[in-house]
Amino acid sequence: MFPVVVVHGGAGHIPKERSELSTGGVSSAARAGYLVLQGGGSSMDAVVEAVTQLENNPSFNAGCGSVLNIRGEVEMDAIVMDGKTLGSGAVSAVRNVANPVQLARLVMDKTSHVCLTADGASKFARSMGVPEVPMDSLITQYSRMRWEKNLAPDANPVECQMGKMGTVGAVAVDGEGNVACATSTGGMLNKMEGRVGDTPCIGSGGYADNQAGAVSTTGHGETIMKVTLARHILFHMEQGQSAEAASDLGLAYMKSRVGGLGGVVTVDPQGNWAARFSSLQMAWAAVQKDTLHRGLYAGEHFTQSIHEPH
Ligand code: ASP
Repeated sequence: MFPVVVVHGGAGHIPKERSELSTGGVSSAARAGYLVLQGGGSSMDAVVEAVTQLENNPSFNAGCGSVLNIRGEVEMDAIVMDGKTLGSGAVSAVRNVANPVQLARLVMDKTSHVCLTADGASKFARSMGVPEVPMDSLITQYSRMRWEKNLAPDANPVECQMGKMGTVGAVAVDGEGNVACATSTGGMLNKMEGRVGDTPCIGSGGYADNQAGAVSTTGHGETIMKVTLARHILFHMEQGQSAEAASDLGLAYMKSRVGGLGGVVTVDPQGNWAARFSSLQMAWAAVQKDTLHRGLYAGEHFTQSIHEPH
């Protein structure tokens, strides 16, 4: 069994001028997560590190760079799940924190609950000493420009977002065969205030179970939730399907049953992994056995030793 970290940067269509930023971002996040594993960290430590990096990267729809709700504000969702204990923590519609994924982990580690939302999540963050950040520090010019564009009466924010997504997520297996997942998002463009998507919902935005594997999802949240995509894929793995085949079956089911497009990263406890999507593109990267794998379009798969300059 070889430890692995697999990361995604959102399903959709990445404009050409932003594709370098996306593939570079997921590659460095996967490397950062893998470094944590090499240093003796757990799969949970690794996925939180990888997703934290992507939240801090303004090119992605999570943390700084999140899309805006209809009022032009940032409300974020995140989840973590530990495959050893089935422990999970999530936050939804949370504001003014730089790293919702770390807050989700605190919910898992420090409370008896699974998900905290909105003001309650912010109060909990304060009580844990998590610094409060001004909302403006999470808003990029790009997200404000897209928000304004989507206020037009003939705009179609879902279509537009399926064009340019950037939710982030990671799955990992550590040296002890423990799996974990983490997912973080600003949600859907111009969403209603208070809208909660699939990301913080256990079984939809992610799921991890040492007896089957771990999945982090991205795509149109309202359809992902209808088919509980992450758990659906693990069900296929429990029935004997590989990580890759199960991911394809789950995505195909979501497309045929509810017309939803998306993408996933998946691992099994043996360290087999997959990065699959039904959208046009999904930036993804994986590191295993000191090799970086990455891709953006279906069928694209570049590899390079992580000791080479990137
Ligand atoms: N799944 C996210 C949501 O609906 C969006 C995305 O993956 O881009 O909130």
